[in-house]
Amino acid sequence: MTSRRGLLIILSSPSGAGKSTLSRLVLQDDPDVQFSVSATTRPPRQGEKDGREYYFKTREDFESLVADGGMLEYAEVFGNLYGTPRAPGGAAMGSGKDVLFDVDWQGGQQIRNSSLKDAVVSIFILPPSIAALEERLKSRGQDSEETIAKRMAQSRDEISHWAEYDYVLVNDDLERAEKDLRAILHAERLRRERHPELVAFVQRLNAEFEELHK
Ligand code: ADP
Ligand code: 5GP
Repeated sequence: MTSRRGLLIILSSPSGAGKSTLSRLVLQDDPDVQFSVSATTRPPRQGEKDGREYYFKTREDFESLVADGGMLEYAEVFGNLYGTPRAPGGAAMGSGKDVLFDVDWQGGQQIRNSSLKDAVVSIFILPPSIAALEERLKSRGQDSEETIAKRMAQSRDEISHWAEYDYVLVNDDLERAEKDLRAILHAERLRRERHPELVAFVQRLNAEFEELHK
């Protein structure tokens, strides 16, 4: 029994709560999950590679991708455009893979409202406190003070969407949060509606009943 339908896993949180860290942990040893690489107009951070964390685009190139219908969703976040290319998600799901999307609440809403909504499992990550959130943004050491201030100012707005998600995790202890995230994926993969092959399986069980009672 293998032919399950793939999941679209949406991970959102205020910046710095730990989405990328948790995604990385799951992606590094779960071959059934593929990361949806977004396009963005924000400049690369140190260590980020084009095509791995993001496809880095000019605003002009990004807008022409949108105009060509190539984006499943897109939104302006912290003054830059971010969007999910349409093709890879559909292809991966077709082959029974799960696809993980690191998107903000606007992206989450758009994917939940798309034709792919039945496959969506959405998870919101909360920080244990606002002080810890700020500390994490600072200790990540990747953003200027001004960028951090902008992200902190937006975090209240992002958090206000927490109740739109199927699951909410408080990322206090990283190991605990990782375990919980894996447990969610494990259970969601077992849901009846993701296993179309069960219909034929139960038909075979029924046929076996009939054979036995002949
Ligand atoms: P996001 O992708 O949500 O913006 P990151 O995954 O980049 O956030 O995490 C921000 C910073 O917080 C990183 O330096 C990361 O190592 C750290 N971090 C993530 N989870 C925890 C945790 N549970 N406890 C302490 N620090 C954490
Ligand atoms: P960062 O600049 O820290 O990588 O990401 C900033 C914010 O943009 C995060 O909330 C992240 O989830 C969001 N984001 C990243 N990619 C996408 C995307 O493709 N679509 C949307 N809507 N948001 C995205």
